[in-house]
Amino acid sequence: MADRKPIETWLTDMDGVLIHEGVPIPGADAFIQRLRESGKPFLVLTNNSIYTQRDLHARLARMGLDVPAEHIWTSALATAKFLDDQRPGGTAYVIGEAGLTTAMHDVGYVLTDTAPDFVVLGETRTYSFEAMTKAVRLINDGARFIATNPDETGPSAEGALPATGAVAALITKATGVEPYFVGKPNPLMMRAGLNAIGAHSEHSAMIGDRMDTDIVSGMEAGMSTFLVLTGLTQASEVERFPYRPTQVVDSIADLVELI
Ligand SMILES: [Mg+2]
Repeated sequence: MADRKPIETWLTDMDGVLIHEGVPIPGADAFIQRLRESGKPFLVLTNNSIYTQRDLHARLARMGLDVPAEHIWTSALATAKFLDDQRPGGTAYVIGEAGLTTAMHDVGYVLTDTAPDFVVLGETRTYSFEAMTKAVRLINDGARFIATNPDETGPSAEGALPATGAVAALITKATGVEPYFVGKPNPLMMRAGLNAIGAHSEHSAMIGDRMDTDIVSGMEAGMSTFLVLTGLTQASEVERFPYRPTQVVDSIADLVELI
């Protein structure tokens, strides 16, 4: 790795890296504090499209992690940015919560259920049969199908929750149309985030707890990658993948000194 440039920008996944089931992971507070003091650009990433940047700022603050709202990057923001680049000032039928609808409004999209350019599916807590039926019919009528992220399930204290990818599969089954997924593992999620803070991939690093999303998309976006073992991927699984992270560390606490 002698040819790697010094790391000037840090992107980090949230769940399994900074927090786990509503509790901060030891070292996360020191990592965020050191980043803020350094003045280096950084983003905390999540594929979850439910929350706005301000919501997530408040949720992290309650866990003792002070991440300014503008340093939070969600699949909802990446999706809105993607649509704004592709078809500025377009229209969309959106299934999702404030995180997604706010992001869509902020890029100037009109939300409508009449002949929209796109059907945009995100995470919600209450998937309605009526909304899914509307989405199926609009896609049959020619609307393009976008989903914020492909995760089939999400975590909860009681067990798995069906997530955006599972509902997307239902709509795909009913229409025969596959969505374009914007969130991880699509490297677009990282590239759009880097663009939003004016950073370049060759000077940037991605930290994640999953080989098959965080590490592969960081690698494909041209960044250094750090795998932490406080989340989903176990140390014994790393060698099974056809790609490897720049470095494997036990936890975020091991990365504080690299800032
Ligand atoms: Mg994670």
